[in-house]
Amino acid sequence: MRLEQFPASIRDYLIAKPGGDLGYDCLGCGARHKADRLLYTCPDCAGLLNLTDALDGALSNKSGDFWRSLFDYRQMLNLEPLKGVFLFHEFLAPSIPLQDILYLGEGRTPVVEAPEALAEEIGAHFYIKLEGLNPSASFKDRGMAAALSYLNFLVRTQNLTSVMAVCASTGDTSAAAALYSSALGTAVKSAVLLPKGRVTAQQLSQPLGAGATVFELPGVFDDCMKVVEKLSDDYQVALLNSKNPWRVLGQESYAFETAQRFDYDLSHKVLFVPVGNAGNITAILSGLLKFYRHKVIEKLPKIVAVQSERANPVFLYYNSPKPRTYSPVTVKPSVAQAAMIGDPVSFPRLAKLVDQYEKICPHSSFFALEVKEQDIIDCMLLANRRGFTVCTQGGECLAALKLALAQGLVGPKERAVLNSTAHALKFSNFQNAYFEDFLKEEYAITAKPYLVNRPKALELKNCPKPSGQRPLNPQESEQFVQISAQEIASTLGLKAKGSGRIS
Ligand SMILES: *Cc1c(COP(=O)(O)O)cnc(C)c1O
Ligand SMILES: [Zn+2]
Repeated sequence: MRLEQFPASIRDYLIAKPGGDLGYDCLGCGARHKADRLLYTCPDCAGLLNLTDALDGALSNKSGDFWRSLFDYRQMLNLEPLKGVFLFHEFLAPSIPLQDILYLGEGRTPVVEAPEALAEEIGAHFYIKLEGLNPSASFKDRGMAAALSYLNFLVRTQNLTSVMAVCASTGDTSAAAALYSSALGTAVKSAVLLPKGRVTAQQLSQPLGAGATVFELPGVFDDCMKVVEKLSDDYQVALLNSKNPWRVLGQESYAFETAQRFDYDLSHKVLFVPVGNAGNITAILSGLLKFYRHKVIEKLPKIVAVQSERANPVFLYYNSPKPRTYSPVTVKPSVAQAAMIGDPVSFPRLAKLVDQYEKICPHSSFFALEVKEQDIIDCMLLANRRGFTVCTQGGECLAALKLALAQGLVGPKERAVLNSTAHALKFSNFQNAYFEDFLKEEYAITAKPYLVNRPKALELKNCPKPSGQRPLNPQESEQFVQISAQEIASTLGLKAKGSGRIS
């Protein structure tokens, strides 16, 4: 829609202007540091940092109604930088000028209601937000859009010429980091550290395709993370792991979009979020609290953090009696591999936000559940059978929904919104291994025959077959088509035309 077509009351605000006063708040010592350079940890005490806007109070000078209509109208504005997560510029990273915003098509992913058939099987109506429809096929693009936009801003304003962006990854962070870095041309190069054999072939192909330098390290993600931290301590690199607080800001857009999708009414909604390094759930809680503080939403939804029983430090923490103590766990192989993290970097952020959340809604507003490997993959395959391209972590959420329904954590009036954090295609190796029943030993998963599917080979006895060597002659070709069609029809049980009504 063209600018002059918007209501006059909105028009002046549609194109966001740079503003706010962003700074890094240290979770350890409480110091505030200026956001004029990239920091990951506090220079004074090495604590984790949050980015907050000192002028954020000014957002409340406008009513909830104002913000709601601004964001709703802005969806119709055809201005590239505001097409993705920066639709919520004022609440996200207001200091970044529009000219520096990197937009590759991320965000604004659909929230789709489960078809009746699936709802019946699960025993509840629910929704899935399809984060696999982001450009690198996971939600990580949200955070990278913010982090690389900020880096782009630094490159321009400080004349930086060769930034090396690095991250450790369970697969998707590196795919997103490499893709978004590549869009900035030669100014930003990327290097990614992956646990060898613990990312899928598709996830490995992504940073390679985007031109990143890819290192495969022995061990699991937590080991790679330690090496990356050492690199960022000792060398000049731009760290793109979720310690990077700019990524958290970008990922808050998930919360804003979910609110917008339900016309800013999140009462009776239950958000299911898979937890690995705890960056995503931190961002979602932080985004919800921001919208709540500035009256964009009036009710906070219930939150369910989901982990596999094989990588469950957050589950263990929240299901132990108070006073709780946090301990990392040693992970075991999990099909929810993107969340296979035993010592989540963002845990201190999460714990603080959950406290804030529970202060506002003291009754049952935050839960942590753990699910079984078997249920994770069964649920992924089931969802795939019913119209959804969910990943194993999406399967994790669906498994948790079943558990939550059984435990009465989700009531009849409530509607779950599951976060399918990536696209099913990234995890097709697990699907294949399941179909071949190869997941027994490492994952203790047994294939359920009704979920298994394999390609069928045609027998084609006494039949000429096309080959690379020689094309079939017309007669042979006709024979091939005839016999193939017959075999397929007989396998499918098709009735011949003219043999009665189609039933
Ligand atoms: C990174 C990732 C997660 C875990 O998110 P955290 O922010 O690390 O908790 C879950 N699912 C997918 C597909 C991911 O890539
Ligand atoms: Zn500090």
